[in-house]
Amino acid sequence: MSLDTFSTTVPRLKRPVIGSASLSVIVAFYLVFLTNRTFWAKAIDYLGAPSFALVLLAIGLFALFSAICISVSVKYLTKPLFILLIMSAAAASRFMDYFGVIIDVDMIRNAAETTGSEAGHLLTAGFITHMLVFGVVPSLLIALVRVEHRPFFQKFKWNLALVLSCLAVFTSVSLANVRTFTAAIRGHRDLVATLNPVTPIVSALSYILASGEEKALAVQPLGTDAHVVAPAASGKPRVTIIVAGETARAENFSLNGYDRPTNPKLATQDISYFTDTSSCGTATAVSLPCMFSVYTRSSYTHTKGLATENVLDVMAHAGITSEWWDNNTGSKGIASRIGYTSFSDINDPRFCVNHECQDDVHLDRLGAWLDAVKGDSVLVLHQIGSHGPAYFQRYPEAFRRFTPDCRTPELGNCSREEIVNAYDNTVLYTDYMLSAVIDMLKVREEKMAGSMIYMSDHGESLGEHGLYLHGAPYFIAPSQQTHVPFVLWLGKQAKAGIDQACLAKEASEPKSHDNLFHTVLGLMNVATSVYDPSLDVLSGCRANAAS
Ligand SMILES: [Zn+2]
Repeated sequence: MSLDTFSTTVPRLKRPVIGSASLSVIVAFYLVFLTNRTFWAKAIDYLGAPSFALVLLAIGLFALFSAICISVSVKYLTKPLFILLIMSAAAASRFMDYFGVIIDVDMIRNAAETTGSEAGHLLTAGFITHMLVFGVVPSLLIALVRVEHRPFFQKFKWNLALVLSCLAVFTSVSLANVRTFTAAIRGHRDLVATLNPVTPIVSALSYILASGEEKALAVQPLGTDAHVVAPAASGKPRVTIIVAGETARAENFSLNGYDRPTNPKLATQDISYFTDTSSCGTATAVSLPCMFSVYTRSSYTHTKGLATENVLDVMAHAGITSEWWDNNTGSKGIASRIGYTSFSDINDPRFCVNHECQDDVHLDRLGAWLDAVKGDSVLVLHQIGSHGPAYFQRYPEAFRRFTPDCRTPELGNCSREEIVNAYDNTVLYTDYMLSAVIDMLKVREEKMAGSMIYMSDHGESLGEHGLYLHGAPYFIAPSQQTHVPFVLWLGKQAKAGIDQACLAKEASEPKSHDNLFHTVLGLMNVATSVYDPSLDVLSGCRANAAS
């Protein structure tokens, strides 16, 4: 039998026919009630169930979504738009419902700036299954049906009537319960932030608009008057190593009172640990540029961060060499004007698998770099630290001390205990790395005046309040995502002029990412009009503070 005869002998399947308005209403129903588990869980929590307010909210949202879907159900655009809405809602609901992640502009920015290997960890079997069930199957159904459109003018009139009726329903139910709704929206901003796919789509559009504007930004110089006040009396170069941590939360540091020994090495070093330090943001793309910027958390914006030089540029103005080593997703523009090395690009097989490296990669070349130091220098080591969800890939076998540890990025397949064990092993490994950096500076004390600052960019949720990972909007972020570890080690020379009792007291007081910029300037003895001594954690403790 030839192919031709075969095709003619099989009766053509009749595609089901549906009117464009009916399809719009079905899609609206699907979006409101089947891709918004997190939203409805919160709504039930805030409005109570069963409650009249909840029923009104359901009717109102269904009417509003129907109005939107009917408005866009234009011939040729209906199917692509509905499929786009459904696929976006499916992807967003996976992250919201399983990890408690809210898809705001910062989260979109973080996703857009992430590396392929990082994103790969999120494409788990669970994610793919979720996308098949909630995205692909309904999209195929839409693709399969034949959508019937009325003649243009008739459709216009009919749709206008439908949209106005839907909006009337939405307005009347909103007005009927206006006080409860406004209270819920004002008091629980996270409720609106989880409305799917409205928030993800609005956030993505805002991100696209903002990134267009940001491309045109010219970076403004900062601290061009910077200079080194006096060369070190010993004549030794000052060297500050800034370890920019990743996803480390203070709660799991034994230095911060955690009951597991996650900091055995640092506990033996002569360090200051700042017990009450808060991050600028809850995601790398916000926190990292903010940490190195002159702006405080309250005055920082992403655009201001991009448009202004940072502490490393100020170093350059003072004639100090700065360099950035990256074992993460890049410097977010901070190192654009200084020496930059990306370990994931080098992909050294001793430390890296598929361009993702363990933090030992920093230590491997640090000794040689220190030996080559000629003058005052600042080196940033940007860690991969405790980045999830593949915590188990962050540490070598020797640091698999807390077991059983979760061995998959699919956190849903692990118990809470396994997730915490894997996470604690990452902290243990960071503890080792920081201690090793200190040891390398210590053995070179004859040659240089070293110090080390470690600050994590943000914390991590490990299931508390049903949240995982990080990136919650700051106003609702739990302490696990904003309380970060901050370690300071001063070599003999840097320590000489510091009142230790004063430093111990400083270390117990509230600190934040606001302090990094000014503390580094102070450590490197740089004077500039942009230096604010009140934000330098050491300035009040210097013996010559008054002089
Ligand atoms: Zn981060």
